Amino acid sequence: MDECLAYFRQAVTNPASVPPWSEWWAQNAALVEQVFPLIDYVRLKHRRLLGARQILRNRGELPDDFEPPSGRVTGSCPNCGDRVSSPNGTHIFCPNCGLIEEYHTVSNR
Ligand SMILES: [Zn+2]
Repeated sequence: MDECLAYFRQAVTNPASVPPWSEWWAQNAALVEQVFPLIDYVRLKHRRLLGARQILRNRGELPDDFEPPSGRVTGSCPNCGDRVSSPNGTHIFCPNCGLIEEYHTVSNR
C-alpha cells in the first residue's frame, strides 16, 4: 500500500514526474484491489486521480483546500491523471474528461 500512496502523492502534487494514471492503473489495479478497502478501490477505479486525492485528504495528508497544479503547467489532467493536450494554445483537453481548462494568453504575443 505504501508504494501506491507514494505514487498518489507524486501524481497529485507533481503529475509530470510519474507515469500517467492510466498506465499506472493498468499495472497496479490488482494490487490496489488487494491492499485497499473495497470502497477505496472503487473510488480509484472510477474517479482515478480525483479518488487518490480524496484518499490522501482522508488520511490527513492534504489540506481541505488543496488545489491541484494546473494542467497547463504539468501537462497532466488534475482530475484523472492522464496527459492533456493543448491544440490551439487556449484550451486544455483531456482524453478522458474533455475540456478541463480554458485560458487566454495576454502576453507572449
Ligand atoms: Zn482527465
